[in-house]
Amino acid sequence: MKVGFYGHVRQYHNIKDEIDANIQEVLESGSYVMGSALKRFEQELAGYFGMKHAIGVNSGTDALWLVFLALGIGEGDECITTTNTFFATAEAIWIAGATSVFVDCDSRTKCIDPSKIEAAITPRTKAIVPVHLYGQCADMKSIRAIADKHNLYVVEDNAQAIDGDGEGFKQGELSDAVCLSFIIQKNLGTFGDGGAVVTNSDEIDRAVRKLRNHGSDKRSAHSMGYNSRLDDLHAGILSAKLKHIKEWTDLRRKWAARYDQGLKDTANIDLPYQAPGYRHVYHLYVIETKKAEQRDDLLKYLNDNGVDAKCHYPIAIHQQEGYPWGKAARMAGPIPNCEQNAATCISLPMYPELTEEEVDYVIEKVLEWSKAHSYVEQA
Ligand SMILES: *Cc1c(COP(=O)(O)O)cnc(C)c1O
Repeated sequence: MKVGFYGHVRQYHNIKDEIDANIQEVLESGSYVMGSALKRFEQELAGYFGMKHAIGVNSGTDALWLVFLALGIGEGDECITTTNTFFATAEAIWIAGATSVFVDCDSRTKCIDPSKIEAAITPRTKAIVPVHLYGQCADMKSIRAIADKHNLYVVEDNAQAIDGDGEGFKQGELSDAVCLSFIIQKNLGTFGDGGAVVTNSDEIDRAVRKLRNHGSDKRSAHSMGYNSRLDDLHAGILSAKLKHIKEWTDLRRKWAARYDQGLKDTANIDLPYQAPGYRHVYHLYVIETKKAEQRDDLLKYLNDNGVDAKCHYPIAIHQQEGYPWGKAARMAGPIPNCEQNAATCISLPMYPELTEEEVDYVIEKVLEWSKAHSYVEQA
């Protein structure tokens, strides 16, 4: 049996009529950039979050740095984040001209550890940029309290956790802006690049709208800006898909529960941790081998047996070539949990369109490997 890592094509086939109809509508409309499909999707997305504004942009990366620019974050400023994330989090801070200051993640949730943030704050710190890693929200209540105390912005890197929420808070409630990515791998993904900023701030809304469109909010009038718009074709596709996000999350959570149950007795593997009261949306279902030296072995075993497992992310940002890229990044202190995460992580196939047989096959293969290697635990 082969179990693929992505369900994009299955998903397309499941709602082909809805997607095709929206694409057709855009094609026939004659307006493909900043047209009515974008406007409609922005309204739907803002409504979905229960927030005032949603602005479609070209990518999740652009969503982040456009917000930084809108907030006046740039040269000489610092943003606090983690290194166990997709590279773009730090890249966006660098594009804005600021410096990433890395603190460790929590050993269980893998999101930024709020207890490490205050020690990293300097007079140059402007923002905290928590990543809702793998589909689980960071501890936004603690982060908000620190930000309030030190007068900092909070920008959520929510590329991975749309439809998730925390214990007693929703995304966007405790931050200045929420940044989304719509590249196909994400829980809400289009057939290409896309992103959005969701915010209650009229100032951020106005600034990002101008910046994404050549510094223009009135025909022929410009200040310096960029070209970072969400195309109407993508907006139309995303409108069709947004209607299904809840049912897709429920399916992800169902498969996660099945993995949890099937793998709960593996002594040499840690399973993903869902914090109490949080709705984890399992963008990725990431297990960790207890011993770093066993990770590649398990990954190879799965791959050799037809299971397309991957690693997110085997090279943490501070381990990438060229670090720290001049003054682009620095560490506030040791980050053993991020390093452990990079060394031990394995992402099992996780998408709504999986079947019971596929999930059970993956479980069977992990259990086979786990039993064969259990002597390591007894030693
Ligand atoms: C995908 C991702 C991004 C970047 O989004 P793009 O749309 O690919 O630019 C940023 N941060 C995280 C955590 C991501 O997973």
